[in-house]
Amino acid sequence: MAETKYIFVTGGVVSSLGKGIISSSIGKLLQARGYNITIQKFDPYINIDPGTLNPYEHGECYVTVDGMETDLDLGHYERFTGIKTTKANSMTTGRIYKAVIDKERRGDYLGKTIQVVPHITDEIKRNIKQLGRKYHYDFVITEIGGTIGDIESAPFLEAIRQMKWELGRNAVNVHLTYIPYLKAAGELKTKPTQHSVKELQSVGIQPDVLIMRTEKHLDDAIRRKVANFCNVDFDCVVQSEDLPSIYEVPVNMQNQGLDTAILRKVGEPIGETPELGPWKAFLERRKRAAEIVNIGLVGKYDLQDAYKSIRESLSHAAIYNDHKIKINFINSEYITEENVGEKLSGQDGIVICPGFGQRGIEGKIIAAHYTRTHDIPTFGICLGMQMMVIEFARNVLGYADANSREIDEKTPHNVIDIMEEQKNITNMGGTMRLGAYECVLKQDSRVLDIYKQEHIQERHRHRYEFNNDYQQEFERNGMMCVGRNPESDLVEIVEIPGLKWYIGTQFHPEYQSTVLKPHPLFVDFIKTAIANQKKDQDIKA
Ligand code: GLN
Repeated sequence: MAETKYIFVTGGVVSSLGKGIISSSIGKLLQARGYNITIQKFDPYINIDPGTLNPYEHGECYVTVDGMETDLDLGHYERFTGIKTTKANSMTTGRIYKAVIDKERRGDYLGKTIQVVPHITDEIKRNIKQLGRKYHYDFVITEIGGTIGDIESAPFLEAIRQMKWELGRNAVNVHLTYIPYLKAAGELKTKPTQHSVKELQSVGIQPDVLIMRTEKHLDDAIRRKVANFCNVDFDCVVQSEDLPSIYEVPVNMQNQGLDTAILRKVGEPIGETPELGPWKAFLERRKRAAEIVNIGLVGKYDLQDAYKSIRESLSHAAIYNDHKIKINFINSEYITEENVGEKLSGQDGIVICPGFGQRGIEGKIIAAHYTRTHDIPTFGICLGMQMMVIEFARNVLGYADANSREIDEKTPHNVIDIMEEQKNITNMGGTMRLGAYECVLKQDSRVLDIYKQEHIQERHRHRYEFNNDYQQEFERNGMMCVGRNPESDLVEIVEIPGLKWYIGTQFHPEYQSTVLKPHPLFVDFIKTAIANQKKDQDIKA
């Protein structure tokens, strides 16, 4: 395609409508038609990135290969399209302002007064256009966080207005709204959608496509009414009903012609409708899976979004094992020596979650002890791996005071220590060991069997590491260091070979699992958990 086309996805009426899923679906459908696409997220908050945000504020922090801490929507983009995102795919108001202020301090603006328009809006536009130019994408899909009418999203909307004006047909706006159902009146209401579109029009943006989120099916009369009131073509008014899985959304959108509506708007020829074969096969497999595998998630954030990528990776892996997943959150703050058996009962496998700080740590260690001594398949991720190591040091090596320097700075048995390059860092934002690093797997290890390749790349987000001084002692006693970074010699994976599945990774494999390429560690973990369940059932029978 000669010129890059830009798709802006905005949302109105309420938040949490699933703009990320819609953006991912648009990306998926255009990709299936052979276009080179990328999806970008703009978050209107002032933080430079979500790396310092508490997961209760904004859910999981997703990490790109090049080490950017980003919004969890980037996880959806990658899981749907399989296309890796980078720093350029994630932008916040904070980063935009910082770039402008840095330029001002350097004197780049030659004495001009720096203003929201044009300097901030120009910087926003530069970040959108640069992505298209640099990588020659056919489509750049830009999702704008927040809801129309928010004070903080105003500069982004102004930038979109300008781009639509400059680029004409090469820029379209897809606006997502909500159609509530009033039970007492027995009616679906379009008024909030009309108001939301008016709000957009008041800042000079005419939406090209409207997607209405709804819990009930919308008939043509409602779609026509919205089309008439909002100046949108009838076939560009699409509905997004609640579906059993987010992965059904692309198919639903394709059935309603969302991709063809967009192509027509930008003046692209409309060829054959892609089959989406492997995608549909995945959905079929999901539908057919009847039996359930129970996975206990031992963590401290009782919030769906806090461990989003882990949950999605587990669900992909279950489907590829022809099972439905049931994820049971187990709050590690309330796990004690006395109740651990009861808390973890009924779980076919346990994931010990990543995290930071003291809260809920001891519960994770108790859980790791229980699963190790009861041979329950266990997957420790980042902090979870570190807790497996501490548990082993305390209960097998006999160092009752073993700990991580993160939790106890003066511990005499610092089996988890601060990384050398982290020692003098005082700024919290963006300073961890972040992004993809190489890891070499050891011969004859379980993980080599699983990955089926010696050299792997996985993404990281941590400050602390396995202390190599203890390596021999761990290995003599049965916990093996089976993955290492070839440059820094950092331990990236530990496993206990004698057990069914007891593996801890310093990296976050969950960032790399996609619908069409589930992560081998998760697939093998779930496979073992299912085998473990069957065995338990056989014993009981
Ligand atoms: N807090 C630990 C560290 O910094 C683990 C981080 C994590 O789980 N992502 O090393």
